[in-house]
Amino acid sequence: MTRTRSDQASKIPVPYVIAYSGELDTSPIKFVRSPIGGLRLSYEHPHEGDWRYGALCARSGQSREGRPQWRKLNTRRQWDCMENLLCQVCGNPAQDRATGRVPWIVTDAVFRRVGATGGLASAPPTCLSCIPVALSLCPHLHVSPAIYMVGNSRPASVLADMYTPDAEGRAYFTGEHNVELPLWGSTNLPFAFAHQLVMFISEMTPMNVTQ
Ligand SMILES: [Zn+2]
Repeated sequence: MTRTRSDQASKIPVPYVIAYSGELDTSPIKFVRSPIGGLRLSYEHPHEGDWRYGALCARSGQSREGRPQWRKLNTRRQWDCMENLLCQVCGNPAQDRATGRVPWIVTDAVFRRVGATGGLASAPPTCLSCIPVALSLCPHLHVSPAIYMVGNSRPASVLADMYTPDAEGRAYFTGEHNVELPLWGSTNLPFAFAHQLVMFISEMTPMNVTQ
């Protein structure tokens, strides 16, 4: 029996981190005076929690209404996964209770090695029970995926779109997408509209998975 495209699509679980069309938030942004002087990017109507690590974190709805946007991550869920080590597929804690370590799928697209046993990861961890579905789900994971058990992790940088102010404080997009800014030492964080958190993961040991 031949299945239709829509039949197949309806059987694919939508990972926790994926954005939905109904979650788009287009609240206006502008530059305001920072408490420590200078300007920083802000929502016109700021909320507590808009800024993380000195950068404005893009808002996103949490309704999961509309259509899955397979190429886009929901910013706030992506950050939640990183900061709380939640599985990017099911949203539950990813840590392996037996070892205390965190399984992490690593591909060239979402990982850059830094040093001997660690590197920078822009995709969140995946719990052991979701690894098979994660590998089958995402076409890019078929390109030499490696799975590691990670002993240590911490926020390291953000990926952001960059804005610049005019004399009235209006915010203008500079045309720079996906700029990686380190959380410590970057003077550009006040001009960043951050949409992804990048983690430094270390104490990585390879895990063998038989599919
Ligand atoms: Zn999971």
